[in-house]
Amino acid sequence: MTQYTARLGARRGAPHKRWSVGRRVRRVAMLSVHTSPLHQPGTGDAGGMNVYIVELAKRLAERDVEVEIFTRATRGGLPPTVEITPGVLVRHVDAGPYEGLAKEELPAQLCAFTHGVMQAWAHHRPGHYDLVHSHYWLSGHVGWLAAERWGVPLVHAMHTMAKVKNASLATDDCPEPAARVIGETQIVAAADRLIANTEEEAGELVRHYDAAPGKVAVVHPGVNLDRFRPEPGRAAARARLGLPQDAVIPLFAGRIQPLKAPDVLIRAVAVLLDEDPSLRDRLIVPVVGGPSGSGLAKPEALHKLAARLGVCDVIRFHPPVDQDRLADWYRAATVLVMPSYSESFGLVAIEAQACGTPVVAAAVGGLPVAVRDGHTGFLVPGHDPHDYAAALRRFLDHPHLSDSLGEAAARHARGFGWDTAAADTAEVYAAAMSEHRRHLRSPHGTHA
Ligand code: UDP
Repeated sequence: MTQYTARLGARRGAPHKRWSVGRRVRRVAMLSVHTSPLHQPGTGDAGGMNVYIVELAKRLAERDVEVEIFTRATRGGLPPTVEITPGVLVRHVDAGPYEGLAKEELPAQLCAFTHGVMQAWAHHRPGHYDLVHSHYWLSGHVGWLAAERWGVPLVHAMHTMAKVKNASLATDDCPEPAARVIGETQIVAAADRLIANTEEEAGELVRHYDAAPGKVAVVHPGVNLDRFRPEPGRAAARARLGLPQDAVIPLFAGRIQPLKAPDVLIRAVAVLLDEDPSLRDRLIVPVVGGPSGSGLAKPEALHKLAARLGVCDVIRFHPPVDQDRLADWYRAATVLVMPSYSESFGLVAIEAQACGTPVVAAAVGGLPVAVRDGHTGFLVPGHDPHDYAAALRRFLDHPHLSDSLGEAAARHARGFGWDTAAADTAEVYAAAMSEHRRHLRSPHGTHA
């Protein structure tokens, strides 16, 4: 973990400071209003943030930090609490109708959600939670109030930011509303600490939202290295998935929406087939995931595009799969393709690499951290399908490239374990706690 200002200071030649470590955090109220850590990622509102919360919470619990995750109940009959593992509890909060409420409509339910959180807290002795960690701006608003009411620090992670998304929208995508920008700005001001996935995101918080650099810490997300590993290898994975051993397989995995640009891969495949129709016999392009975000409005759009471009025979759509199955898809692939318009980190890029598969990705957001250009894959500037076709052609022209880059990719991914992410997050918590306490003791402190 790095403190953003410390990194800036180091660049200017100033000494590299570390935060002082204060009293230990024993119990965290983690807020995930709009999506449950129990949902299947890869479709709808469930994606990297869900994986992030579950993995982080488990590793924090292993470090004796209990985590209670509050999330909105999205169907009837859910138990009030679910224990994921000892020390990690999911609390279902009733706030609005169970089904049929889009994420965009959730601001109207934040008061009800906060009420639910407060009710859970009221059953405990004072001081039950040492800290609030909110994820995504909707949770930040609940966290803002809860942290102030409980007299504890608020640590917030944006995951995505409206201003950043709006700055690089796909042509057929809709911009995030101004209300979200205002909401995010308020949280940046209210939070004691902001956790950014990369230096790039830390800079965006400072530049676009006027975050105090001293509040921003960079913690790289992780990858579950027990699940995502190269063994038992490509041949076994292809056999398990019923895929031919000699096929060239560029894979897309993730939520299907304009922001992730699976259409760019489909167009790139059409370019490749135009240039060399004989490829048809050995090219298979799986698209694994379900519709999400603005992609929900036109779930058939990609199928129609593939039909229009005459590539239906090579594109294979698959619904989202659990992560053990997904690991097989990564291993089976020649290369993972991630042409996203915006990505705060891009977990699938690091997961695929952990499985020994190189990545062709857009050079946006956190992807230049996740992918080492020329070593573990290729970064492509922009979204021109011809450029992606050119990157894919390298794998066709050099059949051993996938293995050689893949080995480097697996080594690179081993630097991104969740244990490190949890240790760094615990350090951010400790710093937030000690500063919060100092503030309480200060005659100018605003907390009563
Ligand atoms: N994922 C999954 N099954 C699928 C497709 C994706 O479990 O069929 C998971 C994947 O393992 C990754 C997450 O969904 O952890 C997507 O995270 P990423 O950061 O790539 O994108 P986000 O959804 O956050 O935009």
